[in-house]
Amino acid sequence: MSKPIVAIVGRPNVGKSTLFNQIGKKRISIVDDMPGVTRDRIYLDAVWLGKPFVMIDTGGIEFSGDDKILSSMRDQAKLAMDEADVIVFVVDGRTGLTTSDEEVGKMLRTTKKPVILAVNKIDSPKQDNDIYEFYNLGLGDPIPIAAANALNLGDLLDAVVAAFPDNSDEDEESDEIHIAVIGRPNVGKSSLVNTLLGEERVIVSDIPGTTRDAIDTHFKKDNIKFTLIDTAGMRRKAHIDEAIEHYSVLRSLRAIDRSDVVLMVINAVEGITDQDTKIAGYAHDSGKGVILVVNKWDIYENKDEKSTLRFTEDLREKIGFLQYAPVIYISALTGQRVHRITDLVKYVADQQSMRIKTSVLNELLRDAIAINPPPSYKGKPLKVLFMTQAGIKPPKFIIFVNDPELMHFSYLRFLENKIRETFGFEGAPLKLIVRGRK
Ligand code: GDP
Ligand code: GDP
Repeated sequence: MSKPIVAIVGRPNVGKSTLFNQIGKKRISIVDDMPGVTRDRIYLDAVWLGKPFVMIDTGGIEFSGDDKILSSMRDQAKLAMDEADVIVFVVDGRTGLTTSDEEVGKMLRTTKKPVILAVNKIDSPKQDNDIYEFYNLGLGDPIPIAAANALNLGDLLDAVVAAFPDNSDEDEESDEIHIAVIGRPNVGKSSLVNTLLGEERVIVSDIPGTTRDAIDTHFKKDNIKFTLIDTAGMRRKAHIDEAIEHYSVLRSLRAIDRSDVVLMVINAVEGITDQDTKIAGYAHDSGKGVILVVNKWDIYENKDEKSTLRFTEDLREKIGFLQYAPVIYISALTGQRVHRITDLVKYVADQQSMRIKTSVLNELLRDAIAINPPPSYKGKPLKVLFMTQAGIKPPKFIIFVNDPELMHFSYLRFLENKIRETFGFEGAPLKLIVRGRK
């Protein structure tokens, strides 16, 4: 479901930014309503033939250090090869093939990513013959365009969109929200599943681990479709032999893998154990939405109005990596607050699928930088150039910088907090990826 990234590369003056701005001007292709497409804009949120993508003009990115044409072209090409899903290589049909075109062409031939060769400044059909020498680049059929007059841009964009990676697996995705219920044995997983479904479909017993097999149950609430992937507990009992234990852990992992949102059930009475932390770790690593469900709240002793607050504090401390997960206190036995779970699941599933426009993200980035400028490292200043959301489930952000080595963990944490403060992303683990010139 991630949005493809299309990078434009090419020598200075071949018309990259003209092309970029033309695509920006074409209202048909742009969903982004940021006013005033300017020369220093280096990204666009665009849609062509109903397919959304992010376009980057790598010529607009200032890499630190020397500004020799060839080395900065190499940087552009490398960035595009690492980060883009499709590369548009722009050459100049008036100047003809140059040695630096050949250099970049050589680099681009080594990538497995689709490269689309656009020969610009073919202002009239009379010049069509000028495109043939570009076959020498070994990058397939050159597409003649005239960026300045927006000639043939449709053909170019058709080729770009046709080269997008096949997402057919993801397209098959159903509209059902898949829920995995995980947790130690006896925390009340089967009871919860039971209460959620409102009928005795799953056998509950005092003997740990009676729900041997994973059973999917489909149900609907408020016209939203859910699928409960039932799992046996991850057993840690000494008497259970290793094979079964591995099997059950594996089964839980598979359930997590198939899910959209994980309900991590914890026994309020026993508190948070190492085993809980470990299971929570699986959930976190999976990139799925996570909700912490504290069960057996009915028999939690000496409750007062601060109990949930204290318990949550303890949770946040012991399972520090799940700060983003909402916590709900329930009793699977009495049904207390169980009816709120589906709403919460839907909410987290939506947060996992939320997309923030590149322009909005970069406004946030500008503000964040103004409050807390990026630090220098070993005397070299970190420059944060721009940020784009490259995917959902989990939300994935690519942050372009002058040099990734200069990015300190704490500054990334600061940016993540800013994103969460502004947009929420509750229950969703965020992936922040730093890219730049090596
Ligand atoms: P960049 O450095 O690759 O971003 O190139 P620019 O977009 O700044 O364009 C460089 C020059 O080429 C400018 O003077 C443009 O007006 C000119 N140019 C761009 N596209 C075309 C075109 O389709 N035809 C002609 N004749 N000139 C163009
Ligand atoms: P599982 O192994 O995680 O599936 O746990 P079960 O659903 O089989 O529950 C284990 C035991 O805890 C059973 O005896 C349940 O009746 C009991 N139990 C489950 N949920 C609750 C609850 O909310 N409150 C109380 N008091 N007991 C519960």
